[in-house]
Amino acid sequence: MSTFTQYQQKATAALKRFKDNPTTHYIAGEFYASGNTYTNTTPIDNSSLGEVAEGDESVMDRACAAAADASREWQELPAAQRKKLLHRCADHIAARAEEIAVIETTDSGQPIRFMKQAALRGAENFRFFADKISEASNGHALYQPTHTNYTMRTPIGPVGVITPWNTPFMLTTWKIAPALAAGCTVVHKPAELSPLSASLLVEIAAEVGFPDGVWNMVHGKGEVVGKRLTEHPAIKAIAFVGESITGSHIMRQGADSLKRVHFELGGKNPVIVFDDADLQRALDAVIFMIYSLNGQRCTSSSRLFIQNSIKDSFIGELKKRVAHIKIGHPLDPHTEIGPLIHPDHLQKVINYIDIARQEGATIACGGTKCNLGDNYIMPTLITDANNKMRVAREEIFGPVLTVIGFDDEQESIHLANDSEYGLAAYLWTNNTGRIMRLARTIETGMLWVNSENKRNLPSPFGGVKKSGIGRDGGDYSFDFYMETKNVC
Ligand code: NAD
Repeated sequence: MSTFTQYQQKATAALKRFKDNPTTHYIAGEFYASGNTYTNTTPIDNSSLGEVAEGDESVMDRACAAAADASREWQELPAAQRKKLLHRCADHIAARAEEIAVIETTDSGQPIRFMKQAALRGAENFRFFADKISEASNGHALYQPTHTNYTMRTPIGPVGVITPWNTPFMLTTWKIAPALAAGCTVVHKPAELSPLSASLLVEIAAEVGFPDGVWNMVHGKGEVVGKRLTEHPAIKAIAFVGESITGSHIMRQGADSLKRVHFELGGKNPVIVFDDADLQRALDAVIFMIYSLNGQRCTSSSRLFIQNSIKDSFIGELKKRVAHIKIGHPLDPHTEIGPLIHPDHLQKVINYIDIARQEGATIACGGTKCNLGDNYIMPTLITDANNKMRVAREEIFGPVLTVIGFDDEQESIHLANDSEYGLAAYLWTNNTGRIMRLARTIETGMLWVNSENKRNLPSPFGGVKKSGIGRDGGDYSFDFYMETKNVC
C-alpha cells in the first residue's frame, strides 16, 4: 500500500494535465471544447483543479446526434466484437487503477482507503456485462398449440446516463457497461462537482477504440445540458442516479418524448438491531454503513432502530467507536472520513444538526465542523430522537446517525416503514422466523440480513417509494436498456 506522501505525489502528477488544459467534452470520437468553462475545485481545500468545459443545449444536441448516428453500427457489430471492446475497456481501467483512485479522491473528497477499489470495481462492471453480451438478446418460448410464439430483446437505442458527485467513477461504469453491452449508444452527463473521472473514462474509451459516437460525454449544468439530454427526441431512455427531486424534474422533462426512465434516488435507510443479534458484528456494520464514504452514500444506514432492552449499552459502545474515527486528508490511507463535497453541502448537514437540537434531540457525538478545513465535519451521533423529527425523515447525505429505540417487532416494522424512502434496509437478529416476517413486510428494494451492504452484480439493485424506479444488475439492466419483442 502506498503512503500518504506517495499518494500525494501520484495525485499531483495525475492532476497536472487537468490543471494545464481545460477538461473537454467527448463527442463522436473527438475531444471537444465548447468555449465556456467553469472552475472545478477540490473538496480538500476548495482550491482549483482546473477549468472544465461547460456545455450548452447545442453541445448536447451534437452529442445526441452522434449517439443516434452510431446506433445502428453498434447494434449490428457482432456480439463477440462488442465483448472484446468491453473487456479491453476493463483491462485499461485496471491498468490505471492508482491514477483513477487518486483523481477520484481529490475530486470527490472520498477517502483513498475506499477509492482504491473504485477502478477495480469499475473494471469488474465492464467484465461482468461483457460476459453477458451473448445472452442479452435471449427471450422466452411461449408455446401455443396453433402458433409458435417467442420473444427476443433488441437494444432500445441511444440512451442518456446522468450521474451524481458522490462516487462518480463506480456509478458511471455501473450504468454505461450494461448499456453498451445491450447494444445502446450512450451520452453521459457527469455531475458538475466531481467531473474528472468521467473525463478519464472517455480517454480510456478513445484508447480502447469504441466506434465514434458510441460513447459520448458532455460536461455542464444539470438544468442546462442534463435537461436537454432528458428532452432530446433521439434519446430513448434515461438512466439517472441522484436526488429524488431531480428524478421528478427528469420525469416531467422527458414526458413529451415519452422517455423510459430508470431512477436510483435518495434513501433514509433503516438498520434494525434486535437484542438477540451478534452485537459486535452489528456494531461494526452500523459504524461502517454510515461513517464510510463520508456518509455520502445512497445506501447509508442513517436511521438506527435499536431494541430498548439493549439501547443504552449499544449507544455507549457506539460513542466509544465514533470517538476513534479518523478524520483527515482523503489521500491519507489512515483517513476514514474526508472532506464533504462542498462548503454548501457541509452547511446543509450542519443545519440538520441544528434542527435536531431545536426539535429536542441530543447530539451525543460530533455535531460541529472540524478545524481541518472548510468542508470537514465531525462524525455525528444523534440520540433521544424520534421518527417524526426531520433528521429521521430527510436525507442528510453526511456522516450523521440518528438513533431511535423500539420495544418489539411490530414497532420496528412500523418505524422502518414510516418513511417516504425505501432503498435499502439492514436487519440484525438471529431469529429465523423474524427474518422471514421482516423480509416480507419491510418496504425496501434491498434488505441485508446480518450483513452490511455487499455487492453482487447479478442481484437487482434499486429502491421503492421515493428511492427509485426500476432495477440494475445482471439481466435486470438488460430489461431496461432493451425492448422485448414478441414474434408469433
Ligand atoms: P442531483 O440530483 O443534484 O444531481 C445528479 C445529477 O443530475 C447531476 O449530474 C446533475 O447535474 C443532474 N441534474 C440536476 N438537475 C437536472 C435536471 N433538471 N435535468 C437533468 N439532470 C439534472 O444529485 P447529487 O447531489 O449529485 O447526488 C446526491 C444524491 O444522489 C443523493 O440523493 C443520493 O442518495 C443519490 N444517490 C442515489 C444512489 C442510488 O443508487 N439510489 C446512488 C448514489 C447517489
